[in-house]
Amino acid sequence: MTTIAIAGFGKIAKDQHLPALSDNQDLELIAIASRNATLDGVENHEDLASLLSALPELDAVALCTPPQVRYSQAVAAIEAGKHVLLEKPPGVSLSEVEDLVRRAEQKGVTLYATWHAREAAGVEKAREWLSTRRVTRVDIQWREDVRQWHPGQQWVWEPGGLGVFDPGINALSIATHILPEAFFLREATLEVPENCQSPIGATLEFTDVHDTPIHADFDWRQTGPQTWQITVDTDDGTLVLDSGGSQLSINGERVVDGEDIEYAGLYRRFAELIREGRSDVDVAPFRHVADAFLLGRRQSVEAFVE
Ligand code: NAP
Repeated sequence: MTTIAIAGFGKIAKDQHLPALSDNQDLELIAIASRNATLDGVENHEDLASLLSALPELDAVALCTPPQVRYSQAVAAIEAGKHVLLEKPPGVSLSEVEDLVRRAEQKGVTLYATWHAREAAGVEKAREWLSTRRVTRVDIQWREDVRQWHPGQQWVWEPGGLGVFDPGINALSIATHILPEAFFLREATLEVPENCQSPIGATLEFTDVHDTPIHADFDWRQTGPQTWQITVDTDDGTLVLDSGGSQLSINGERVVDGEDIEYAGLYRRFAELIREGRSDVDVAPFRHVADAFLLGRRQSVEAFVE
């Protein structure tokens, strides 16, 4: 049995990591590091440093903190010889993530940069279907209500918090996984509330080597039902991934209607990587976000009020 601790006991740790770990046969949650929360039945520490020094036998750490503190926590865990699972996005810059890869390699521990949306039920089948077809157009609509998914979270609006790219990177993690060709950002508009430092909306235009148009709208101002949809037109019909990738339709016929299995999949994969002594760090989705911040035209929009 591999023992694991969670650092940062906020929304995603409680909503997803805790239930996924309690269902996993290979990993045992034995501690958390949290400044505010406690959890019955495990060791509770106020910060990761004290957790690491109190538990030298611990095998792994899952970092569920905001991306701004992820690098220093990951370095501490790797230096202590722990396998590390990173929530998405893997940090605040590509340089940080590259350094973590090097450090994990040197230390001989597993580093897993997770992309939970890639584990959604329809994604693998979508990738398989697209692998033998020519893509002619892609439309990504990722629109949700920030007040529902990030209530009171100031870090999302600060530098490194990514703003609407925090959910948008989920769409990019799916697109980079299922589309058969690499694609590149050509134009972007980032809508930034006048009282925030990161965007609340973004429009992105990509193309691939065949000049295929790939359009994405990310918006955090949606109320009512959320929209997490990717439509891919091909020379052999249309594929639609909906509900964040859990539903897949091909030429109008529903072929996958799955349940929420994303975090179970992430922890199954983490246990497998640890067993095999490997790391898995794919920065492709994060690189597109960095490109959007490099190329994007910033537009000021009305102030965001929680
Ligand atoms: P959150 O509710 O704000 O939780 C993050 C937790 O990290 C906080 O509750 C706090 O935990 C700790 N923390 C915050 N600032 C810290 C600091 N400066 N130093 C050390 N610890 C700090 O955020 P979240 O929604 O769980 O998101 C965390 C990560 O999960 C993000 O990268 C996000 O993209 C990802 N994620 C979120 C969702 C979602 O639906 N919200 C979905 C998928 C992935 P303690 O009080 O325990 O110290």
